[in-house]
This record gives sequence, structure tokens and C-alpha cells, in this order.
Amino acid sequence: MSAGDGASGAAPEPAVVEHPEPDGPETGPALAVFAHPDDAEIAAGGTLAKWAAAGREVHLLVLTNGDRGSQDRRVERAEVARVRGEETVEGARVMGLASATVLDVHDGDLDNTIEIRAEVVRAIRRIRPATVVSCDPTAWFFENRYYNHSDHRTAGAVALDALFPGAGNPHYFSDHLDEGLEPHDVPAVWLGWTLEANHHEDITGFLDTKVAALAAHASQLADGIAFFEEELGKEAASAGERIGVRHAETFRVLALR
Ligand SMILES: [Zn+2]
Repeated sequence: MSAGDGASGAAPEPAVVEHPEPDGPETGPALAVFAHPDDAEIAAGGTLAKWAAAGREVHLLVLTNGDRGSQDRRVERAEVARVRGEETVEGARVMGLASATVLDVHDGDLDNTIEIRAEVVRAIRRIRPATVVSCDPTAWFFENRYYNHSDHRTAGAVALDALFPGAGNPHYFSDHLDEGLEPHDVPAVWLGWTLEANHHEDITGFLDTKVAALAAHASQLADGIAFFEEELGKEAASAGERIGVRHAETFRVLALR
């Protein structure tokens, strides 16, 4: 979320609750696309860790370098980005991810441009994910206490616009074909930080990993991990109650084919 986002990390009760379970366990590669270095852990860290532990190849693409994630006016933003890059790699390692890539876009400056979509499409065509995980671009207001960071909304829009109509159509980013990257249709997208959840993923046994991965982002945890550990625990327990398990994460799942 980055320092100053103002969120506790706790999601509200979803407005729409159905439970269209995917057709059996998810398999194949997955690609998580988020705005800031610590977003994936907060929104979907238990699910990503669970998939990795099950043998899925899970990759992370972070669209900004998080270089405004500090309230210290004396610190160089390039230094913030450097530290957060290292924290991203460590968080990904804790979750068991296959790779973590951070794009060189300034924190807070994320726009849904053709250049950034090209980067996401390139990652989709290279990794060929069965599942893309991002955040819901339509989620603006979380109760009366928080509205969603512009970068989060934009990251969700970038991810969706990249996977359709971009990644599957050879006339989008045709130069990729010269790099040996073929078009790829992504069959499923899972959007965290949503107000219209339709799926709760059982992450029982993976909450500790989610919290440990978030703890890797020490630069964002001036007061320690305890606050997030408690909030993420409450959120996971609340989501878990909905499907009768100890801990869960909440998503808006789209089955695209
Ligand atoms: Zn963020």
C-alpha cells in the first residue's frame, strides 16, 4: 500500500457474495500485477503462497518502484526505491514465488498508458499465466474511512486492459512476435481489494506466510508488523467464516473462457 495510503489493510464486507467455485483447483502459471512493492502480500499473499506451495509457478510484476513510500523528507527517493526493490525480492522469496519484477515507474505516477500495458502484455506472453491476480479497479470507497489509492485502481485497470484485448491479439504489441512471444489468452482473473467479491479462497495454514512476507517490507513498517498481523488476521478470519474455514482471502473472480 505504501506509507501514507491510509488503509489498515482490512477489507469491508463484500456487497455481493456468491460462491462460484472455479472448476477444481487452479493449476498452471500465475501472474500477480500490483501497484506497489507490498500490495501483493496484503491483497493476495496467502493465496499466492498457497499456489506456490502447491507447485504453481507464480510470478509478481510490481508496476511502480514505491519511491514515495517514506515520510522522511531527507531521504532520496532513489534510495527508497532501492530498499523497496530488495524488500520485494525478499517478500516474494517468503511466498515462494518464481520471480519478482519491479518496473521503474514512480510511486504515485502510475497511468494506464500504452507503454505500461506493453510491459504487462509482454509478461503475460512470456509467462503464459492461467491466472492473473490484480486488484479491482472499480473499488473506490471502503466504508467511510478510506478511498483507494490511484495507483491501486490504475494497476487493476492496466492488468485488465493488458490481458484483454491486448495479450491475446497479435495486432496489439506486434513487436513482441519478433521477440518470439506469441499471443496468449488468460482464462481467469482474480481481483483483490474488491467491493464485489464472489470468491473466498481458503488460505488456512498460509496466514503466517502472508504476514512474514509483509514483514519483509520493513521500510513500510515503522511501528512493526504487529498492527498488520492483527488486522490481516481479523480480515482473514472474517473471510474464512463465510466459507467455514479458519482463514480466507477475498476476490472478484472472472472466468474469461
Ligand atoms: Zn499500495
